[in-house]
Amino acid sequence: MYVVLKESSTCEEILALKEFIHNSGHGALEILDGSVKKIGIMGKNGNLSKEMLKEFSIVKEIIKIGKPFKFVSREFKKEDTIIEIKGRKIGATDLVLMAGPCSIENRDMIMEIAKVVKENGGEYLRGGAFKPRTSPYDFQGLGEEGLKFMREACDTYDLLMVTEVMDTRDIELIGKYTDIFQVGARNMQNFSLLKELGKTNKPVLLKRGLSATIREFLMAAEYIVAFGNQQIILCERGIRTFEIATRNTVDINAIALLKEKSHLPIIIDASHGTGKKSLVEPVTLGCILAGADGAMVEIHENPSCALSDGEQSLNFAEFEILCKKLKKTLEFKEIIRCL
Ligand code: PEP
Ligand code: MN
Repeated sequence: MYVVLKESSTCEEILALKEFIHNSGHGALEILDGSVKKIGIMGKNGNLSKEMLKEFSIVKEIIKIGKPFKFVSREFKKEDTIIEIKGRKIGATDLVLMAGPCSIENRDMIMEIAKVVKENGGEYLRGGAFKPRTSPYDFQGLGEEGLKFMREACDTYDLLMVTEVMDTRDIELIGKYTDIFQVGARNMQNFSLLKELGKTNKPVLLKRGLSATIREFLMAAEYIVAFGNQQIILCERGIRTFEIATRNTVDINAIALLKEKSHLPIIIDASHGTGKKSLVEPVTLGCILAGADGAMVEIHENPSCALSDGEQSLNFAEFEILCKKLKKTLEFKEIIRCL
């Protein structure tokens, strides 16, 4: 349920209403939807009725949300959410390009990649220091050392850092370095992790689970909101299907549908989505036209020597071409959006 507030409502009146909601055992989520002020009422167990809320003169309307995912839904917020981090915007018309290696392998490689990302107009450096590997014998990442290398690379080239957190015990450590926490596909329903990330004030890039339905994906995002953090970026990275010609099957339907169902920004990761470097460019561009707000791409100076995911990583020349086409695709998207 949420309440729509009268335009004339003052900060003091809103504060008093929020306090009342809290005291009744609910969370109160204040948002501005365009120019409309709203308060989402979270939780079911407290004692709060519509009649009680109507006592507040600033309450214009009380609306029940039909969906199981409530505060990430378009029903609650009509306007697209734009996430602002250090002056960059995700969910607006800006180019959102998150590129980098699958794993940070050493200092020189991440410095070199950061330079390439910046030169091609990227604003975000991705890279894993804590890696979710299928085999315990595969490279597991450099841990904190990798975070330090990546932070240095981001600071040198003025990039924002995106790195994965797999365990609640690492949130504090990773939070000291990163600008955006990534939750990987394998952890999309790690509810303890989602709850703890909900208590942080950094944006969370939430990847779709390997076999997650759209409803489950949005419910996972709802966990983060319910625990206090509204800064969520969804990421479609392909799902498992009967098709084994590619690593995963990118669900382009999901991009368009998530835009209908949710106000959150969404990006496409065609590297993990396809597992095949030749498919990364066409699938990325297609998903941008279907509504994705940006792209995540794995790159490596010499993909055949990468410690992880070399088959799906672009080399620098391939990345440069993708970036050029991505910029043109965004221009074209803007043209067709205005038709
Ligand atoms: C990654 O981005 O490095 C990664 C492991 O992706 P996913 O969780 O989508 O498999
Ligand atoms: Mn990878």
